[in-house]
Amino acid sequence: MAECTDPRCAVHHGLAPRGIQITGRVVSDKAKRTVIVETDFARYMYKYERFLRKRSRVPAHNPECINAKAGNVVNIAETRRLSKTKSFVVTGIVK
Ligand SMILES: [Zn+2]
Repeated sequence: MAECTDPRCAVHHGLAPRGIQITGRVVSDKAKRTVIVETDFARYMYKYERFLRKRSRVPAHNPECINAKAGNVVNIAETRRLSKTKSFVVTGIVK
């Protein structure tokens, strides 16, 4: 593994993850050091007494040492706000 030069890395440079942790699929790796992570989940709706399928998209910081690509399943953790839209960091690739 190459030496990690990204200061915004939760593994090597002590970017403190806190708050929620989620596992999702990378749907976009177009932006530099940023991935879009999508998760499907079901939320129960009392009014209709059924589950409603929902989906969320979260922009997350993707350090070069992890370098997740579209299609990867990754763990992401909440951290401090890294940019206008990013407050999550990729902590590892599941598969
Ligand atoms: Zn790193």
